[in-house]
Amino acid sequence: MGILIEGKRRRLRGAPRAASIEVLGLEVTQAIQNLAHQVPLIRSKSTVVRVYVKCTGLTAKRDLRGEIAVASAPGAPARYVPSTKSIIISDKDQPDLGMQRRNAEMSLNFVLPLDVCSWPTVSISVNHIRSADTDLPLSGDLTTTLPLIDSPPLRIKVVGLRYLWTKPGGTQIDVSPEAFHFDFLRSFLGRAYPVPSIEWSQLVVQANPQFAPPFSGPQTPDGDDPLWRAKLAIAHNQLAVLRAKDIEAGTDPRTHYYGLVSDASAGLFFRGAAKDIPQVPDPSVVAVGPTGNPRQYPSLNWDKDASYGDWYAAHELSHTFGRFHPGFCGQDASDGTFPYPDGRIGDLQHGDMIGLDVGDPTLNIPMAALPHEKWHDIMSYCDDQWLSSYSYGAILDRLKLEDAAFRVA
Ligand SMILES: [Zn+2]
Repeated sequence: MGILIEGKRRRLRGAPRAASIEVLGLEVTQAIQNLAHQVPLIRSKSTVVRVYVKCTGLTAKRDLRGEIAVASAPGAPARYVPSTKSIIISDKDQPDLGMQRRNAEMSLNFVLPLDVCSWPTVSISVNHIRSADTDLPLSGDLTTTLPLIDSPPLRIKVVGLRYLWTKPGGTQIDVSPEAFHFDFLRSFLGRAYPVPSIEWSQLVVQANPQFAPPFSGPQTPDGDDPLWRAKLAIAHNQLAVLRAKDIEAGTDPRTHYYGLVSDASAGLFFRGAAKDIPQVPDPSVVAVGPTGNPRQYPSLNWDKDASYGDWYAAHELSHTFGRFHPGFCGQDASDGTFPYPDGRIGDLQHGDMIGLDVGDPTLNIPMAALPHEKWHDIMSYCDDQWLSSYSYGAILDRLKLEDAAFRVA
């Protein structure tokens, strides 16, 4: 009798018998990616390795942690990188590969150190996966070797346009974007754009006196808004003049200029636009757009952070890199070759691309996986905006062309 109880107790308390881990996939991602790694990886851009697992023999929920080895070539000396945090799984309670890819909390994630991201090649292998202090036997896809390609930085100057607002009572106040809006924009472009870094500068200037509310007026029968169009032209011209002076004074001619207009109240929303959609590389094309708190607009309730000027600017800036509208969520369709349904960032028929926002701890933005079932391309007018691999690749191509064509000797 005593022996039986002793036996039962041992089995309950002891290590799981013959527990093991099958690695279902290894995905190296920077902003958008699939399991076949069809999106090129950019040298010196923040990089996350995601490891998807299936466990066998874990009868109770267990905490799993991992470690990967990263070398500059197969067999070269490795850097060891721990998972950012643990995942909790058991045989009964484990998401499949597709679910793991769609939720950053469900995979073991490894943030590559900056010096490792600058190597021309990364050769990655799963070193161990542990439950408590026990290494679990591993099987499956344990290694991958991928090149990292050179990409130019994004060069951008963001100009806050300070304007005079005459309130209904007659009081006049100056309105300019608060500093944090610039921070959100810089961070978003660094996370979402196909660039290793951003050569950034920012300032606030007094807008041309004619650039002041109202920013919208009665529409003509064809749907145009002549009042808005006139003020847009004033802002574009001011930015173009400022840019020309800066370039004359030695600013890198590959620098894009973007005007940021604060909406001190929802009635002051200034609809953004690029001056042109250049079909040949032309960094002189300026753009302008609004920023403010997304909480002012019920239609922006998908945007959880403190600024909507970030993705809005990425849309307008992408126009200046030659990108058109795919034609979704109430917009004209000027891009006839957009590949995905409903303006989304991917679909099952085209490689099952999943977005990854690496996040930004300084702005309290967590790492997040962005499933194509929910997220839409930056060039659409839909909710939940990110870059599809289509836009990501096209912007990368244009950046490279601009980088070569406008290089100062
Ligand atoms: Zn647009």
